[in-house]
Amino acid sequence: MPTQNPVFIPGPTNVPDRLRHAMDMQTVDHRAPDFERQFVPLLQSLKSIFGTTSGEVFLFPSTGTGGWEAAVTNTLSPGDEVLAGRYGMFSHRWIELCRKQGLYVHAVQADWGDGVPVDEYERILAADTGHRIKAVLACHNETATGVTSDIAAVRRALDAAEHPAMLFVDGVSSIASMDFRMDDWGVDVAVTGSQKGLMLSPGLAIIAVSPQALEACHSSGCTRSYFDILAMRDANRAGSFPYTPPTGLIRGLRESMSMLSAEGLPRVFARHRRIAEGVRRAVGAWGLSLCAKRPELYSNTVSAIEVPRGFDSGVLVRHAYEHYGVSFGGGLGDVAGRVFRIGHLGDMTDVMALAGLAAAEMAMANLDYPIELGSGVVAAQQYYSATRNHWKQEVA
Ligand SMILES: *Cc1c(COP(=O)(O)O)cnc(C)c1O
Repeated sequence: MPTQNPVFIPGPTNVPDRLRHAMDMQTVDHRAPDFERQFVPLLQSLKSIFGTTSGEVFLFPSTGTGGWEAAVTNTLSPGDEVLAGRYGMFSHRWIELCRKQGLYVHAVQADWGDGVPVDEYERILAADTGHRIKAVLACHNETATGVTSDIAAVRRALDAAEHPAMLFVDGVSSIASMDFRMDDWGVDVAVTGSQKGLMLSPGLAIIAVSPQALEACHSSGCTRSYFDILAMRDANRAGSFPYTPPTGLIRGLRESMSMLSAEGLPRVFARHRRIAEGVRRAVGAWGLSLCAKRPELYSNTVSAIEVPRGFDSGVLVRHAYEHYGVSFGGGLGDVAGRVFRIGHLGDMTDVMALAGLAAAEMAMANLDYPIELGSGVVAAQQYYSATRNHWKQEVA
């Protein structure tokens, strides 16, 4: 009896056997000295995926959304103004979270399929001569639309306006799969989770915090308790946690970091780029378009594909699941019914991607989409075979 196909949702992603084994373990005493010996170096090693040396990394039992809440509630006060763009479901939800925390959000609308509205940011920041805006929010990789935004450009907009606001970045579906440069981009809080590029089960929010944002934690007026960064920092400095840590996920995270560093982050990023390009070739061969408007916005972790007029992507996603046991992402929010998404991040190979493309083709053909069976697979095969690398079997 076959058990499970790979998933092609943009999180949670496929969990490699090595990580499943790592998380299958006996009870760990988190007050025992060997927890400290493993946990402290782990926090240090996580800085690499954020591209920071000056920032500090914290883990909270939660998911990406909890990481956002930690970012906001530890550094800001009710009534503070923040600037955010709304260009997909995740950037939208972050705005809603800020409003519920009593912040005043300058929400800049952009088309779904476009990236962070940098010019508008710059205009608003330049006009804010009283520096009422305390933080600028950007979603690095908008998972709903398959759009990667230029965070360095957001930093340039802040600098051009000589504005001191902090920069908070949602890197949940980019960090550990794409180059992320917290220090170079002047990011103050970057957020990710365990279940995307890090290939683990859901359950951890992982955030990196700059010295400036840590400073802001001392004067923030929002309420937080479980997500208190300063309390977490005090405990971490003593090699421990303020409450019971999710030891299975922490063990898995150590193993995940060791897989990523064995492959080498530049190679991890190149693999994502290459697999994504094969998927894009397939989409082109189907005669379909990406939701992302321009090539420089194309995401290397998720492709959101517009279905032809008259088709409902929700039906397609359900059909693929019910008939082939394969999960794709549906359309969220403004693009519900109009796009389906192929997640190609984390533990993903050419062969897995080809299987996903083949399954998508079968589902589309069953539903009378105007595509030719095999066309996308061939386009991806041609690209993957022309750009092949030596396959190196992992030695654990
Ligand atoms: C997955 C995701 C999140 C967080 O979602 P959780 O379900 O809370 O982990 C946030 N932002 C982006 C861009 C995401 O892809």
